[in-house]
Order: sequence, then C-alpha cells, then structure tokens
Amino acid sequence: MQQIAWQRELLRIVIIVALATATGMSFEQPFWGAFLGLIVSQVLMLKRLNELYRWSNNQGSAPQDGGLVGYSVDILVRRERSLNKKIDKQGKQLKRIAEGIESLKDGVLIVNQAGCMTSFNRASCHLLGLRADTDMGQHITNLIRAPRFVSYFKQADYSDVIELESPHRSNITVQIQVAQFGIDQKVIVVRDVTERQRVEKMRQTFIADVSHELRTPLTVINGYLEMLEDADLNPGISRAIKQMSTQNERMKSLVNDLLHLSKLESDNAGIGNDWFELQSLCAISVDQLRAYRPTSLTGEKFPEATLSCDCVSGIEILGFSEEFSSVLINLITNAIKYGHKEGLAAEVKVTIDTLDEGLEIAVTDQGEGIASNHLSRLTERFYRIDESRESTVGGSGLGLAIVRHALDHHDAQLKIESVLGEGSRFSFVIPNERIRMKGSV
Ligand code: ADP
Repeated sequence: MQQIAWQRELLRIVIIVALATATGMSFEQPFWGAFLGLIVSQVLMLKRLNELYRWSNNQGSAPQDGGLVGYSVDILVRRERSLNKKIDKQGKQLKRIAEGIESLKDGVLIVNQAGCMTSFNRASCHLLGLRADTDMGQHITNLIRAPRFVSYFKQADYSDVIELESPHRSNITVQIQVAQFGIDQKVIVVRDVTERQRVEKMRQTFIADVSHELRTPLTVINGYLEMLEDADLNPGISRAIKQMSTQNERMKSLVNDLLHLSKLESDNAGIGNDWFELQSLCAISVDQLRAYRPTSLTGEKFPEATLSCDCVSGIEILGFSEEFSSVLINLITNAIKYGHKEGLAAEVKVTIDTLDEGLEIAVTDQGEGIASNHLSRLTERFYRIDESRESTVGGSGLGLAIVRHALDHHDAQLKIESVLGEGSRFSFVIPNERIRMKGSV
C-alpha cells in the first residue's frame, strides 16, 4: 500500500514535469518547461499538505488523495479509531472499578502528596461523616483530628493499622490503614470494626468472669486437699491426693494466668506509664525464682537451677513495673522449666546489652532447645510444642502470650532464637525513648 502511494506520487510528478517539458519544447525552452513543471507539482503537494494540516486541526474535511497524503490520512483515521476503542474500553473498566469502590462497605479515600483528599467513596461519608460537596480537597487531618491518627498519618511507616472512634459517630470504631501508591499519593482504607470489637470485649469479659468465679471453689478444694495431705491415709489414697493437689495447682496457675492476660488485654492496660529502676526489678525477679524448683506431674522436683543476672544499676525504664516483672518472671520460669537437659540443673542467664535502637534484655538457657517450626507460634495462647513434654512440668500455656502482651505495652517485641540440643534465647529491645539514666532528668 505504502509502495503504491509512493509510485502514484512519483508518477504524478513525472507526468506534470513531462507535460511541462513537452510544452517548453514547443517554445524551444525544455529546461524552463521542466522547472515550471517541478514548481507546479510542489505547489499541488503544498496544497494537499495544507489540507492535511487543517484536517488534523479539526478544520475542514480530510484531503481526498491517492498519494502519500491520502495514505497518511488513512493510517491516521485507522489509528484514531483503534485509540478511541481502547479509550472507550479503559473508560468502561475505570467506571466499573469506580462503581466497585463505590459499592464497598469499607471507606476508600485517596489523598495527594499534600495530604488533601482527591476522591472518596460513599462508605467514607457514612463512616467518617465526609461530605462530597464541601470536604473534597480538604486536608485529611482537618477531618480526622484524633492525635493518634495525625501522628500515624505523618509517619512514613504504615505497616500497622490503627483503631479509633469515628469522628462522625462515637458508637462506631473504625480501623484505618494507609498505603502509599504511585510516587506521591496515598490510599486510606477505613473499616468498621465495631462488631468485632464488641465480640472481642465479650470474650474478654467472659474469660475474666469465669476465671474469677473459679478462684473461690479452687481455693476451697485446695484447703481440703492440704488438710487431707497431712492426714494419715493409706498410700494409694495419699498418692491420689498428691496428684489431685498437683492438678489443682495447675488449675490455679491457669486461672491466674487467664486473669492476668485479660487484665493486660483490657482497655485500661497500657495507661499510666511510670519510670522504674531496671536493676532492682531484675534482682527481685531473679531472687524470687532462685528457690523455684519445678515439680513434674509425678511429684519429683527438678534439680535447682543456676541463675545469673548482669544488670548494671542506674538504668530506668518508662513502663509498667508489674507487667515488666511478669515478663521477666515468665521468661526465667520457662528457662528453668525447659532449660535443663537430662536431669541436669538448668543454667539461666539474664543479660542486658545496649544496642543502637535501645536496651536489649535476654534470657538464655542451655536446654533442649525448640525446633524452628514452632518458634513463630510459641506466643499463641495454649500453644504447646509437645504435650508429653509439657505434662511433666505442668505449665498453663499462657506464659508467652502474657509476655507478648506486656511487651506490646512497652513498644517491644519478643524475639525467640533456639538451636535444638543447645538451648534457647528469648530477648526483646526496649526502645531508647523509654530509657534514661537515673538522675538524668
Ligand atoms: P507454659 O505456661 O506452658 O510454660 P508458655 O506460653 O510459657 O507456656 O510457653 C509455651 C511453650 O513454649 C511451652 O509449653 C514450651 O514448650 C515452650 N518453651 C517456652 N520457653 C521455653 C524454653 N526456654 N525452652 C524450650 N521451650 C520453651
């Protein structure tokens, strides 16, 4: 097609030049004739190009031409048609996506680099009380003013979500997650979590109530069992009573741990930070456990563990001393319970190191260790590595869940490292903002 257009164009020039040359020859001026022919063909070409230019600017109709100009027009028309089809298709796709976002129950907002809203869906209006006519273009922090959201929005790391009361309706709790997209835009997803929170609260209250109610009957049973332990009974019954006592102790520790965990999960937890001295707290926790010898379910005592703590004095931590102490006690208790090998006494070390990001506190033992496939699940409630192994020491299965929650309130995370047959290391880092040297303020 392109070749034919070229041939036609050339043929047109040749014919015009030949006719003009022939006319020039009849006046004995073939050269001027040919020259005139060339000028005429160029003028005609310019005329067609001008028509093409006007048409491309939407002025006038497309030039009707069988040469290169006509060929270009054909190509442009075809290209425009296919582009229009693509735009149409993409327009429909965009419309479908917009309709999908509009029909979501979750609020979706898009904000630009400056933090101003460039679009939001209907659910955002319901959850946050936005109004399309007045709020579009407003800065997001003018509409969600809660200080927690403002500092969350300003930070560059959005790996976490935050939950807060809706600024529009106080009976709605919303979960907000921000994600960066493109170079300078952010998408904010707002989810109604009121029902989930209500169920979670019900669960917590139920567990706390049941645990509380179980305390009294357990104390009574314990009293009678202690009385019977001292009585002169035949050996079979004595053994049964001993086992009942051990199980009763286990139930008591389970109930206490459940109560402790619900306290840590309650709304009031994590409020009322205060500075406390780390060394004295470590020393008290270690001393408290020095004489601790776990008993197996068959009633044997494990050998006494060696405990060491290398904490220097003068370091203060901003947090909750009771919760912090329960972290240390749980980790050291576990190290004593699980950190021994074949009847040998456990060697437990509590070490404190200064890192760039804060103060690292670690509890290390030289026990049997934990296989790597269990490590990520150890802080789940009631997660046990091996039931047969646990039944020898009788833990509640809640210790590490308590540790995780208590550390959350100190902006720290539990790190578990372990090598099978060599021992385990449970550590966490208290961030620098929560540490000071005594007397520095
Ligand atoms: P429990 O109250 O049963 O000790 P935890 O939540 O404290 O429950 O611990 C969960 C499980 O993690 C334990 O049952 C035990 O199998 C394992 N574990 C915890 N600490 C250690 C440790 N230092 N060495 C080996 N295993 C451990």
